[in-house]
Amino acid sequence: MRSYAVIIIGAGASGMIAGVVAARKGVKVLIIDRQEKCGHKLYATGNGRCNFTNEIMKPEYFIPDLLNDQERLLRMDFVKKCLDNFNKDDTIEFFKEIGMLSYHKDGYYYPAGEQAYSLVHALERELNRLNVTIKLQTAVDYVEKKKVGLRESFIVHTDEESFMCSKLLLACGGEAGPIYGCKGDGYRFAKDMGHDIKTPLPSLTALYTDTSKKIRNIWAGVRFKGEVRYADKSSYGEMILTDYGISGIPIFQLSGMIIRELNKVNKSVNAPISSELIFVDFIPDYDEEELFDYFKGLIKNYGSLSVIELIRGVVNFKISEALLNGIYDEEKHINDLTDDDLKRIIDLFKNYEFKIIGYSSYEKAQVTSGGVNLTDVDFSTMMSKKVEGLYFSGEILDVSGLCGGYNLQWAWTTGYIAGTSLSV
Ligand SMILES: Cc1cc2nc3c(=O)[nH]c(=O)nc-3n(C[C@H](O)[C@H](O)[C@H](O)COP(=O)(O)OP(=O)(O)OC[C@H]3O[C@@H](n4cnc5c(N)ncnc54)[C@H](O)[C@@H]3O)c2cc1C
Repeated sequence: MRSYAVIIIGAGASGMIAGVVAARKGVKVLIIDRQEKCGHKLYATGNGRCNFTNEIMKPEYFIPDLLNDQERLLRMDFVKKCLDNFNKDDTIEFFKEIGMLSYHKDGYYYPAGEQAYSLVHALERELNRLNVTIKLQTAVDYVEKKKVGLRESFIVHTDEESFMCSKLLLACGGEAGPIYGCKGDGYRFAKDMGHDIKTPLPSLTALYTDTSKKIRNIWAGVRFKGEVRYADKSSYGEMILTDYGISGIPIFQLSGMIIRELNKVNKSVNAPISSELIFVDFIPDYDEEELFDYFKGLIKNYGSLSVIELIRGVVNFKISEALLNGIYDEEKHINDLTDDDLKRIIDLFKNYEFKIIGYSSYEKAQVTSGGVNLTDVDFSTMMSKKVEGLYFSGEILDVSGLCGGYNLQWAWTTGYIAGTSLSV
């Protein structure tokens, strides 16, 4: 059986940076991945441009799910301490050092060449320079820790052969993006070695609504700038109305917490999936009062306009048609509207209620929420508190971030910390 000082399962974002950092200290490293190439998922990130970090890096941006006070404090504290160790400036500098410059747009950082390829290529080149052994197209089946001779070692069993090491890093991601090799194996490996796993669920994904077929047929495909609200959270930006529900970055940002709430009820024995309410503001740049005054002015000067014509001046035609359909006589003249009618119309477009009844699966989700419980991990090394010599990095941990480079920053940060400790 071939033996290495360090084995890393996963040649994704966190596994590759950890490999570089460990190998720089002269440690003999083996990285194993089931995919045909390193960083397979990275090529798909940021629509191929790889949004690898963000100008504004706050621990709050790593809490896209609803947590109780205790969990929130634990997560914030853990993330803050990790980011204090390796932050976005360190990330930008790291990539600069290995041959990749970056640029940012509205705070979102990308490789200067606007291609994920240049980031993956720089990492691969550095791994090769450091003589890290990379074994691709090799799936790890299971891992165990047992006494070999006088010492405890990890045995990593793959579909071809087994390898031995004294330190093992699980950098195998979560369940999001199974076509990129992430099938939740890391949770199984961690659980088998006695770790608590917070239920993994998709996050940063589209939501299914109970909107009538009639409405969906009218507006499917329409993009609009709006604000979405859920509980005490809100998110602003471009959203897309689809034939199954609603999508777009503001929806992604709130999806983690909504999906976890949906599953709270859903988890109870055979209960039907529950529903959650979100409210969408289709006219976010004007408040109710401004709109009321504006419409009153129009009514005064153009009283013979129809209700639909009034609304089309401020909202996409298809959204106007879909929402007024069957509720108001679209052709009714606006000078026939009472103040209460007007307020009701404004409310319809500013507080439109969507009932969320489902969500897109891991195939479409960008990240997994849940994972290895942070109470089982030492933030300063990423080593397990339960199994000496076992480390975790990236999405496998119970931390997920918002859209905007936060999930990759988490991978760089934890990969760097783990890589540093692996070489000690
Ligand atoms: C479409 C898409 C777009 C995204 N865009 C962005 C973005 O722009 N910015 C951002 O910050 N985040 C983005 N993300 C999220 C980000 O890519 C991940 O959070 C990040 O890559 C996680 O890093 P990781 O090292 O934990 O795991 P990954 O990068 O997922 O790598 C894990 C690796 O482990 C391997 N593996 C798993 N199990 C085994 C096994 N049993 N045996 C062998 N190998 C195994 C997999 O093949 C995989 O290569 C995106 C995700 C997706 C799906």
